[in-house]
Amino acid sequence: MTGHAASPPPKVYGWCPGALRPMMSGDGLVVRVRAPLGRLTPEQARGLAELSQRHGSGLVDISARANLQLRGIREDAHRALIAGLRDLDLVDEDAEAEARRNITLTPFWRAGDDSHKIAQDLAAALTQARDLKLPGKFGFAVDCGAAPVLTDTAADIRIERGPDGLILRADGADTGLPVTAETAAGEALTLARWFLDQGGASEGRGRMHQLIARRTPPTVHVAAAPDATQISPQRPGATTSGLLVALEFGQMPARALAALADHGALRLTPWRMLLVEDISSLPPLPGLILDATDPRLRVSACTGAPGCPQARAVTRDLARDLAAAVPVGQHLHISGCAKGCAHPRPADLVLTATNTDRFDLIRNGTAADHPLNTSLSADALRAAPELLTEGS
Ligand code: SF4
Repeated sequence: MTGHAASPPPKVYGWCPGALRPMMSGDGLVVRVRAPLGRLTPEQARGLAELSQRHGSGLVDISARANLQLRGIREDAHRALIAGLRDLDLVDEDAEAEARRNITLTPFWRAGDDSHKIAQDLAAALTQARDLKLPGKFGFAVDCGAAPVLTDTAADIRIERGPDGLILRADGADTGLPVTAETAAGEALTLARWFLDQGGASEGRGRMHQLIARRTPPTVHVAAAPDATQISPQRPGATTSGLLVALEFGQMPARALAALADHGALRLTPWRMLLVEDISSLPPLPGLILDATDPRLRVSACTGAPGCPQARAVTRDLARDLAAAVPVGQHLHISGCAKGCAHPRPADLVLTATNTDRFDLIRNGTAADHPLNTSLSADALRAAPELLTEGS
């Protein structure tokens, strides 16, 4: 039950921006930085903040694949920005190597553990694999802690810890290949080549789960996957690796990034949060959410207007205003169009913009699903937020 009658379909790009291959948005270039091992030293974080302020809008996003995005970069400043990223050791040799090195690593890794070793080996192997032509969004998840934490994070090939040891699993498959920390990276590339050989990317696009829906994984993939049924969502607060800090709508001012760097090295997460290594508390900082009960954690909103050229309305001001009205335990997603970038999965409550001041309300669906109510104005929703939940 998808599709709005009146709205033209949103544009699907099929690739993710990088630093060397940025994407134009409504507020300038989006430059995505793939920090090695998803970690920034304090010097790198301060340097990125400075580059963001000098060449862009001074706004920094964290993506659903745990990468940092510098927003509003001026086209004529891109070359200087790349030079700055090279000085910080935060850019690949070329755009193809950057695109291949699409790895999400559990932020709870410890130096020398399986996740850390495998991610290092995989990054090196992908950088070298110049013949490997994977679709733009194809990615790897390295998630070898005692319990998985990346099962809700998009990835095509997963390296994780099953009940009987490490396994490599094609996304969408119930079983995987037993591996060791030494063999995992090589086997991951073998599985990526299997994906291509099986026609997974016949027109340059395609995802592993789509291939697995029509083909069984290789016959040697027989090891049980980890049990992901008991996994709770991550929240801001202290962990054994450091302090998780949430970003309102996954975005922060560059000055907040620089301020965080004064407290330690930073790890990027796919949950709109940063992990500050080896600390357990922080003083309040602008734009950052430290309290696990903050109502803003119950809403998501994409860039919206004017930052995204496809957006039909401003999204984040409304999300901020409605957050307190979202019942505890539920999630409201406000989307500038039916593409639903900020929360591709179904949410309890969804408002999808259909023009500059009209939203469709969807319950238990995605931004593209059939609305229960149409043409709600932002003012009407602010005046009567119970419209969101009435009759449910
Ligand atoms: S969902 Fe939001 S960010 Fe994505 S294309 Fe639509 S308006 Fe832009």
